[in-house]
Amino acid sequence: NRRIALAARPRGLPVPSDFALVAEPVPVPGAGQFLVAHEVLGLAPAARLRMSDEAGSYAAPLQIGDTVYGQAVGRVVASRHPDFREGEWVMTMAGGWQDYSVTDGTKVWKIDPALAPPAVWLGALGVSGMTAWIGLREIGRPRAGETVVVSAASGAVGSCAAQFAQAWECRVIGIAGGTDKCRYAVDSLGLAACVDYRAPDFAEQLRAACPQGVDVYFENVGGAVRETVWPLLNQGGRVVVCGLISEYNRQGAPEPGPAWSDVLAKRLCVQGFILSDRVHRQAEFVAEAGELYRRGRLRFREDASFGLEQAPAAFIAMLQGRNLGKSVVHLTEP
Ligand code: NDP
Repeated sequence: NRRIALAARPRGLPVPSDFALVAEPVPVPGAGQFLVAHEVLGLAPAARLRMSDEAGSYAAPLQIGDTVYGQAVGRVVASRHPDFREGEWVMTMAGGWQDYSVTDGTKVWKIDPALAPPAVWLGALGVSGMTAWIGLREIGRPRAGETVVVSAASGAVGSCAAQFAQAWECRVIGIAGGTDKCRYAVDSLGLAACVDYRAPDFAEQLRAACPQGVDVYFENVGGAVRETVWPLLNQGGRVVVCGLISEYNRQGAPEPGPAWSDVLAKRLCVQGFILSDRVHRQAEFVAEAGELYRRGRLRFREDASFGLEQAPAAFIAMLQGRNLGKSVVHLTEP
């Protein structure tokens, strides 16, 4: 079993020497466990949070030498578990950056490769899509005709949040880094508009794109992007705090937060959530998202790398915004 271990805690943006490729015997499942041979790994920004040991993170820190955290899809190749048989396809939320993992089935979903290829079960029909769906269903609760703004809109979670809100007949405005990503969000995902947050007139462009103000802000980024959206929130607005990626590589004190007086005056609802608390809704999610996917209304784009040893470079690229779509690593050649 080859695995990528954390070799050092990154200071700021990770560098390749923070990771080490380790080879060990393939683990053997015990009673009530099964062995999964990974085919595709999903790279998640939350792995960066686990590389730090600062207090206050929701994610338990990795120790030096631990396998880097992440989702994987693959096949069961040996089983001593009554509910999982050899040959079945699964998505395991904590499979990690490695060739194989042993699990007792906790936070493992069976997947249907006839509905969608394996990588989709890491993205639109997997953790990314379900994160978007939970955030909107439970916190954003957008109504038809409302304006929904999504940051990191071309990314794995953001592209799904945008498409769910569109399916629910909202007016969706994306925010993304660069003209290529914005063009993708409008031309391929069908958003009403997408604004480049790196443009010097970002704030003016965003205001012009939201003439009715913002009813729901799906927050993936934090920092300067949040500061720009904040004044546009309407009375009764909802802020879905899904992620704060602009702050994950930060060293030291947190950035100043938004104006709390607005939460009072505008009767805002600002709520965070963590998907792993909500996985009991997976079947409900797959029923709705699977149907949208089948009808071509939930598009998925992967940003693929090939070979386990590419995972650190692909992860660093994602943290720099050099991915377009869900960052995945295929362990078998296409
Ligand atoms: P993405 O596919 O969206 O990739 C990350 C993107 O973040 C980059 O492409 C980049 O897009 C953007 N980004 C990176 N740095 C910055 C920055 N400094 N300022 C603005 N944008 C930046 O990743 P995911 O879809 O997997 O994750 C999106 C968010 O969802 C993350 O914050 C993640 O932590 C969160 N998440 C939360 C979960 C939960 O349970 N609450 C579960 C899963 C994910 P661009 O070029 O457009 O800037």
